[in-house]
Amino acid sequence: MKHKKIAFGDNSKRFSVVEKVLYTFPHHKRLNRSLLIIYDLLYAKFGSRHWWPGDTKIEIIIGAILTQNTAWVNVEKAINNLKREKALSVSRLSDILEKKLARLIRPSGYYNVKASRIKNFLKFVNIRYGGSINRMFKTDLYKLREELLALNGIGQETADSILLYAGNKPIFVIDAYTKRVFSRHGFISQDAEYKEIQSLFMNNLPENAGLFNEFHALIVELGKSMCKSKEPLCSMCPIRSIRRKQNARRSKKTG
Ligand code: SF4
Repeated sequence: MKHKKIAFGDNSKRFSVVEKVLYTFPHHKRLNRSLLIIYDLLYAKFGSRHWWPGDTKIEIIIGAILTQNTAWVNVEKAINNLKREKALSVSRLSDILEKKLARLIRPSGYYNVKASRIKNFLKFVNIRYGGSINRMFKTDLYKLREELLALNGIGQETADSILLYAGNKPIFVIDAYTKRVFSRHGFISQDAEYKEIQSLFMNNLPENAGLFNEFHALIVELGKSMCKSKEPLCSMCPIRSIRRKQNARRSKKTG
């Protein structure tokens, strides 16, 4: 099916996202209204999250690697160090010695491991795509995903964050907040794996990078501000009344 372009995450409140999606994809058999209603409620509560913070594709990619096992505030410090050194380009990062890179990204924690992961990624881009991030993103989504997953230290969440937020590719990012929220509401089991959770979104929403971008960012905001691991703030939560409807498809598509 050829999808029409649709803007998600804008400030237009004339139509809800459910209305927009049903208008744009009237024959989409796999739509799940519960997911769209959750999106609408979260958007109404939190507004656009303007993700991913970053001026360039390489900055977003480096941020996705640095954010592993640390808070974003620490990533920002590391990114600022790289900016101060004017190091946020494939060529400059490739030229910097790994030891110096580790020192610059020290605030993000695990800095030696992360410096090695960044160097691995740069080697891959240089050898496979002649140092061009744009050429890299011209590759088919699932082929590139496989290539990224083959790199040491790039797991599914990091690969999908790179693909969605730097490459604007329609793939849904899953993290611990997604698992917590959607298992608590009966969409998935508590022990569901990444691929199964991702399939819930990919199989029941229109394939749209803008929607996936905003939806994941909204789930993160919900997880941080309300759906805490202990003592979630359910009485204040905009999606407290939503439960999984039986028509949500769980068949595997991605991965
Ligand atoms: S805070 Fe409560 S109502 Fe909100 S998502 Fe978490 S479990 Fe659900």
